[in-house]
Amino acid sequence: MSFECSQCGDCCSHLGLVHTIEADLGNLRYIVRNRYTGERTTVVVDPDKTALFLDKNIETGTFADRPEACPFFRFIREEEKGYCCVHATRPEICRDYGCWRILILDSSGRRAGRIMESRHLGSDDPLLLSLFAAKAHDLERLSDSDWDDAVIRIFRSAGYVVRT
Ligand code: SF4
Ligand code: SF4
Repeated sequence: MSFECSQCGDCCSHLGLVHTIEADLGNLRYIVRNRYTGERTTVVVDPDKTALFLDKNIETGTFADRPEACPFFRFIREEEKGYCCVHATRPEICRDYGCWRILILDSSGRRAGRIMESRHLGSDDPLLLSLFAAKAHDLERLSDSDWDDAVIRIFRSAGYVVRT
């Protein structure tokens, strides 16, 4: 299964530490500089996100809750969804990003957790977290592929649906 972004906004909520607006070119065009690589990207606010980008209430709410958010990120609380206002022209680092390798859903199909990077579980499901904590030590010596197979078996046998 290919990566599907659920728009939780976790990634963009910290990328203000990376992306800074170097210049405002007018007409909702900006030069964004990657603070670490020095890479510059010209981004343009997507026409269908102009109102969202300019909405001061949404902007204020987004940055009140997420002070490290990317300047182009907006979070709509009512929808519990985040939006990139420059999605069509976003920097390459954002295009390449896929935050999970293994997706874990509960029995009602809601996201329970994600395996990110090599062996990190991102989750706010207490049962999944305690299951993982109880087993993780036993799996430490496994190769990466065997580790994946083992955690998938553990999650499935506990009733979770696992997608890779
Ligand atoms: S890439 Fe991942 S962390 Fe970022 S918004 Fe999408 S699901 Fe959330
Ligand atoms: S440019 Fe868009 S995708 Fe990239 S960090 Fe900012 S809001 Fe997220």
